[in-house]
Amino acid sequence: MRATNLYAPTLRQTPADAEILSHQLMLRAGMMRKSANGMYHFLPLGWRTIRKIEQIIREEMDAAGGQEMCMPILQPAEYWQESGRWAVYGAEMMRMKDRHGHEYCLGPTHEEMITSLVRDEVRSYKQLPLMLYQIQDKFRDERRPRFGLMRSREFIMKDLYSFDKDVEGMNLSYRKMYDAYTAIFSRCGLEFRPVEADNGAIGGGHSHEFTVLADAGESSIACCTKCDYAASDEKAELAPVEAPDEEPRELEKVATPGTNTIESLVSFLNIPIEKTIKAVAYETEQNALVLVFVRGDHEVNEVKVLHQLEGVLELRMAEEETIRAAGGCPGFMSPIGIKKGTHILVDPTVMNMKNAVSGANETDFHYKNVNPSRDFKDVVVADLRLVREGDPCPHCGAPVKMTRGIEVGQVFALGTKYSAAMGATFLNEQGKEKPLVMGCYGIGVGRTMAAAIEQSNDEHGIIWSRSIAPFEVVVVPVNGKNEEQLRYAEEVYGELKKAGVDVLLDDRPERPGVKFKDCDLIGYPLRLTIGPKTLEEGTLEVKIRKTGEMFHETRENYLGKVQELLKTL
Ligand code: ATP
Ligand code: MG
Repeated sequence: MRATNLYAPTLRQTPADAEILSHQLMLRAGMMRKSANGMYHFLPLGWRTIRKIEQIIREEMDAAGGQEMCMPILQPAEYWQESGRWAVYGAEMMRMKDRHGHEYCLGPTHEEMITSLVRDEVRSYKQLPLMLYQIQDKFRDERRPRFGLMRSREFIMKDLYSFDKDVEGMNLSYRKMYDAYTAIFSRCGLEFRPVEADNGAIGGGHSHEFTVLADAGESSIACCTKCDYAASDEKAELAPVEAPDEEPRELEKVATPGTNTIESLVSFLNIPIEKTIKAVAYETEQNALVLVFVRGDHEVNEVKVLHQLEGVLELRMAEEETIRAAGGCPGFMSPIGIKKGTHILVDPTVMNMKNAVSGANETDFHYKNVNPSRDFKDVVVADLRLVREGDPCPHCGAPVKMTRGIEVGQVFALGTKYSAAMGATFLNEQGKEKPLVMGCYGIGVGRTMAAAIEQSNDEHGIIWSRSIAPFEVVVVPVNGKNEEQLRYAEEVYGELKKAGVDVLLDDRPERPGVKFKDCDLIGYPLRLTIGPKTLEEGTLEVKIRKTGEMFHETRENYLGKVQELLKTL
């Protein structure tokens, strides 16, 4: 490819509405442009990188036994009604009607579609296992599209679905995908961690998120400082904290005027915060009150709360009226004295506390000497706490470290959630009808591209790994109007192409400074420069983008050197 034929409009200024570096750099490097809120055009350079990431994904999916196919983006509502998700998917799903009044959505994911296909085709265990995938646009009407490709509304996803005859089979498929994902993100040159994850709206069994470590990431993950345990903050399990052994004293109600926060209570009673019990009051979509109690210095993990409440998808803060109707008092809550039938969830750390302080369900009053294992009745005890730096790893007990990351892919062991709901069955070896055991596995292609840039850049621009760079090498004649330089550069370009190197010839009649700046901004791994001095010497100047290192190579040796260097970049 010659730069004079390439549509790559670079920008000198940083676009004002791009908040994070990857978005800014992709715009500046002429790789993408915004079309509408959360929707983007890929320009030729950006598309080359996307295609390279897709190709790596394809190769690894195929190697793991996947077969590529393609499903429609527009999906009939019926399938979603069968799985039960039409009613619960919420506003992220873009719904529409055709001219006959039939309802559809733009696919946010394809479990229903693939299950509807496979149930009509797969009859026998002999057709299993089966792994089908596509690389295709998804649409999610995100509440807050932002950060460019990182959280857009229309985005490219690879989604693979596995079908097995039993759970062991599913676990094997899961393992294959887990390994394939590890290979994919390694080949893309990313530093990442597979992280134990919550299942969210997809449901089913276990799950891992593949998370690229980067400060701009929206995911918060707990990584053990000793073993390889890593979990999303939503998922991270926490063992109860033991409390010092004390003789339980008698419950006592004390006046604590104006202490409706933990901080004010701690300073008023002059007690350690670890002696206090904190309440958070939620209301469900069905307007039921849910009271959650954690230790004063701990935070509630809403995802864990939701797991305790069947059929509840969202929580909001409770209205004062609702709290009062149940016998509670905002700012002074306690499980003691709440009306029967109210959901009261208590973290196990609280249950271990001795002679603690909680509200007394009365303004300006607290209970002292609360011994939850003695005093709390009709409560559900469950891990409800949000992990924080220094908490013990559930595997080895060493402290965890909190880091930020970008979720680029996720693998789910679904089980029979969709097959059972949609009647996707097969006959097993004994001739018995069984639901297919499924898994699903997604990778955000655009988000992977953005994550690669977040992780690898400098003040001059992007630094691509060779595997996903729009071009591996750029050949630059310093003076694009100089016949001799151009001819030499053309020859080198031809030689590289012949050797199978993905090379761009920057034959633009621009000033050298402009071309060099563009090279650094776009981030080609290697630059070969031809100028008056190199011509005189019969050499080329080689620049390694990643290290900034520059040296000269003879015409005889440069090709071997380039190929050798590319293997390391
Ligand atoms: P998130 O939690 O970030 O909203 P998700 O867990 O809902 O993502 P999945 O359903 O697991 O997403 O989709 C698989 C992959 O698709 C994700 O790992 C991510 O890489 C990508 N992805 C999801 N939503 C978006 C989006 N709005 N823009 C770009 N990529 C996305
Ligand atoms: Mg996910």
